[in-house]
Amino acid sequence: MHIETDIKLDFRDVLIRPKRSTLTSRSEANITRTFRFRHSEIGWTGFPLIASNMDTIGTIEMARALSKFDALVALHKYYSVEELINFFSTDASHNAFFTVGTSSEDWEKLAKVKAKVPVPMISIDVANGYTEQFLSAIAKLRLENPAAVIMVGTVVTAEITEALILAGADIVRVGIGSGSVCTTRDLTGVGFPQLSAVIECADAAHGLGGHVCSDGGCVVPGDIVKAIGGGADFVMLGGMLSGHVECKGEIVHETIDGQQVPKMVFYGMSSETAMTKHHGGVADYRAAEGKTVKVPFKGEVKETMGQIAGGLRSAMTYIGAENLKEITKRTTFIMVNSQRNTVYG
Ligand code: 5GP
Repeated sequence: MHIETDIKLDFRDVLIRPKRSTLTSRSEANITRTFRFRHSEIGWTGFPLIASNMDTIGTIEMARALSKFDALVALHKYYSVEELINFFSTDASHNAFFTVGTSSEDWEKLAKVKAKVPVPMISIDVANGYTEQFLSAIAKLRLENPAAVIMVGTVVTAEITEALILAGADIVRVGIGSGSVCTTRDLTGVGFPQLSAVIECADAAHGLGGHVCSDGGCVVPGDIVKAIGGGADFVMLGGMLSGHVECKGEIVHETIDGQQVPKMVFYGMSSETAMTKHHGGVADYRAAEGKTVKVPFKGEVKETMGQIAGGLRSAMTYIGAENLKEITKRTTFIMVNSQRNTVYG
């Protein structure tokens, strides 16, 4: 047994110190970034936010809405071959990851779609990115898709980040247990505070010309700024994009103070709800590692995206960053005991 005594940080443990700035207007802050990847021959330019491949979030409707912001979607795994061929024949496909797990069915589906239309970006999604099989799956996917942008995860430590990049990943997804509907930490005691995970993995990835995506734990736009400040090249969102028209969540009405309030069902991909929907129930040998919640119905996602882009631009003027890469260079985190004035909630 070993104890690491340096404290690892979450977004709520820090704020960003303001810095002298020459930006006179938020409109001067550029939230579009151009990427060249470690392995892929394809570059990508856009707003590096990714809707998570959860089945209520990573939808085709979300992909269409976010492509208007040049942002990305990791499509969920449960679309049919026909639906995917139709989707990847459109322009929105430039801003979407095709998601696979490690099962042969998923890979066969990818092969069928690729036989008809180009699939420029692929994400391999596993809950635990620390297995030997995962490394060999990445190497195989890279061999079969030399030009594709490949994103893999999830992990939370530097050495495995390096191993995944050397195996063929362009982008490593960082985050275990920080998701809004995740119960992994309660169930297993395993996890890593998100901001420190991003800082450590980004440092490792960037040393090799790789990139990282902070996955999970953002609850307000400022958390996205903190993730980028810590070195995240991309930020993946689940909960913050939940409850919108573009989500595939069931709408239910709750009576609150005599009023009918619309809510939307949102659940983790390892929750009992998801496992019942896609696998006919929770297998005997495992327990659910996700929860099911009802979130307020928030209307169209463009409103939320506007808030996020506005928060980011404002942060950039506070620290004098003209573009996203400069956010990391100009970030000094200060550790805090409280985030904000809570007198009115
Ligand atoms: P959020 O943005 O909601 O905080 O986090 C979203 C991330 O939570 C997803 O991208 C995914 O990595 C993770 N996640 C989604 N569903 C589950 C689940 O059921 N269990 C666990 N452990 N993580 C989940």
